[in-house]
Amino acid sequence: MFISELGEQWHGARIDPTITHLDSASAGRSSNAVIEAITDHLWRESGRGSYVALDDVYNELLDGRNGLAALLGTTGDRIVYRDSARAALRSLLSAWNLPIATTVWVAKNEFGPNLIEFERRGFAVRTLPDADVYGHVDVDALENMLQFEQPEFIHVCQIGSASGVVQPVKRIVDVAHDAGVPVVVDMAQAIGHVPTVTGADFSYGTSRKWLTGPRGVGFVAVHEKSLRPVALADLEVGTDSGYIAGRLGLGRAVAEITTVGAAKVHRELAKVGQATRERMNGIGSWEVVEPIDEPSALVTLAPPPGWQAGDVAAAAAHLRSTGVLVTAAHIQRAPLAMEHSVLRLSPHLDVTREQLDRVAGELRTMGY
Ligand SMILES: *Cc1c(COP(=O)(O)O)cnc(C)c1O
Repeated sequence: MFISELGEQWHGARIDPTITHLDSASAGRSSNAVIEAITDHLWRESGRGSYVALDDVYNELLDGRNGLAALLGTTGDRIVYRDSARAALRSLLSAWNLPIATTVWVAKNEFGPNLIEFERRGFAVRTLPDADVYGHVDVDALENMLQFEQPEFIHVCQIGSASGVVQPVKRIVDVAHDAGVPVVVDMAQAIGHVPTVTGADFSYGTSRKWLTGPRGVGFVAVHEKSLRPVALADLEVGTDSGYIAGRLGLGRAVAEITTVGAAKVHRELAKVGQATRERMNGIGSWEVVEPIDEPSALVTLAPPPGWQAGDVAAAAAHLRSTGVLVTAAHIQRAPLAMEHSVLRLSPHLDVTREQLDRVAGELRTMGY
């Protein structure tokens, strides 16, 4: 039995997986139509030549870009494609004329590899205060801090890689903008998953996770009213030589979500997340890390006391051997927040109660 009322439709649009796929936070399962949009274009390129084929799908590409932009509250002409979220962040930081002594404020759930990008550029990184044990940003405290000091920018992962916590990005943007500070949002785990119209100056993400588009496509959106305009031309490199088939596939994936209604998809994923947390919490001494009713479908479980990183990795490997795909997330993913490795379950709309029961059964045998 599907947990979501969209489950049957989502499931029916895809091949039957040979596993229980609870790993959308790594890469979601593309629909058959998305795969066809990609392969159709690859055939077209081989048949007619890539550049002729590009002309043939020009309008479709624009539609896809507009659809993606709409999820971000902007227009297609503000979007630039890159190969991945990380490549998007890199090109943004390269195009942006930041001073040598740049300070960036980040939330506690900051993605480890992003911190490496900041360190590599010599930025001073400071962690925002949190409002609770879960690591939600304390927006009132941030507002206070901004009266005394302003960083070059605030960078926030709307959802990080190793917890389902959803940061209050809209409120962060509001107080930052009142202080004249631009905000960059990492939406790699957020787009297609939670509402992503935030008013942020820059947002970036990837196709392959919750949008269930192809791998190899990332994007950055430069908000029209950005406090620090970056010339889109400086971000745009080699558009014509890019992965056009992948962009068409992403466009199709976005259209599928928009046809159902993005808000509805977000609500249903929140329901899936809550049902997963309720089912798993406390089983075999595994404890849900984020609030049970956090409005996301990224679920993390802290292991029984005393378990080391290798034990959590072994648990993920054991689950895989029983046909369940999850991720062992280690502290490098969120070094400012994590004290131990966690098991990450990221079901999409097609998850069933029976699948969750099976995972719970396996967890019980691995706990106490
Ligand atoms: C996956 C992820 C990224 C990186 O995405 P890529 O497309 O692999 O570069 C960035 N930030 C967060 C929070 C992620 O989960």
